[in-house]
Amino acid sequence: MRFLKADKLFDGTRFLPSGSVLAVHDDGCIEDVLNETALEKGKIEILEGILTPGFVNTHCHLELSHLKDKIPPNQGLVDFALGVIKTRNNLPETEQLNAMQLADKAMYEAGIVLVGDISNTTLSSAIKANSAIFYHTFVELIGLNPTRANDVLANGEKIIAAFHQNHLSASLAPHAPYSTSLELIKRIGMYNAALQAPGSIHNQEAEAENTFLQDKSGGFNRLYQTLDIPIDWFHPKAKTSFQYYSKVLHRDVLQILVHNTFMNAEDIRLAERLNTCICFCPGANLYIEEKLPAFELFNADTFCIGTDSLASNHQLDVLAELNIILETGNFSDEQGLKAITSNGARALKQENRFGRFEKHKRPGVNLIQKENDQFRFCRRLF
Ligand SMILES: [Zn+2]
Repeated sequence: MRFLKADKLFDGTRFLPSGSVLAVHDDGCIEDVLNETALEKGKIEILEGILTPGFVNTHCHLELSHLKDKIPPNQGLVDFALGVIKTRNNLPETEQLNAMQLADKAMYEAGIVLVGDISNTTLSSAIKANSAIFYHTFVELIGLNPTRANDVLANGEKIIAAFHQNHLSASLAPHAPYSTSLELIKRIGMYNAALQAPGSIHNQEAEAENTFLQDKSGGFNRLYQTLDIPIDWFHPKAKTSFQYYSKVLHRDVLQILVHNTFMNAEDIRLAERLNTCICFCPGANLYIEEKLPAFELFNADTFCIGTDSLASNHQLDVLAELNIILETGNFSDEQGLKAITSNGARALKQENRFGRFEKHKRPGVNLIQKENDQFRFCRRLF
């Protein structure tokens, strides 16, 4: 057993009173939080900085790790998406796997213990099965044409089965409202409800998404033209993207809404009434659209954070993402640290093990410091 005391102890929800000591078994299992007066002084390890539970990266794409520095920044979402489609299969599988392996290691070394990872194939499954990080995989489905919903779903079920065979946690996820039919979003919700697993969808990442679903105007037409996908049959008529598809979200499935850069106050209030969780990926938003969400409009106590992929970010480091968010001045340190610990664990439905310093949990233990208003990762203790 180790007894750890730092300048501050953050338990996943709040800073504990000074004098609090974390008791951890050698296997990383939390025994208790004690007061230092209850312990012999010589037994306590004194550390400089803040102790926190291991970090949660709620949104990542391990599969795109080989695209680091391959797609130029600041082009907007349509050209970014075209860039990913054009380049993602340019490298042989072995090199793609090497890049994933390095990304997995980098996340581990940045204090990340739990990842919500979007996958289109089974390629990442061996790495996930052998990783020290716990992954929940969202098998991502794309299909705007509702007549294809059955085929797309059947293919998704095959991919999920491969992850489950490797004893990995997995559920289905629609890619985005501009690329997935309402029929398919509905069917995915039913599938995830039966699994009692969370869902995830890229939400309002670009203004073009709202205009496409309002009256089919804007940049996404160019995306479909370039990809030679006919969409003349598609006639949406909605106020915003979220108001367009939220009506088909399954009420029993916790839905992670990712990005939310172009969500308005009405969308946000609607999302709060539904079974959703807001996930910010500010590094990717700056990389692709050069714009951040209107943080001041969101509930400061319930959001979580993701890194998105190495195609759209310089690193997979949730603490760096948190620093970007805290710089805007909308959230306290406590709210920010909660986002990358207990809120992330809740979003991925892994609260039994991760996110908090509570008896019998094995959430990982990180030591961080704060310098010049920025959090800095020091090391993992467990
Ligand atoms: Zn993403």
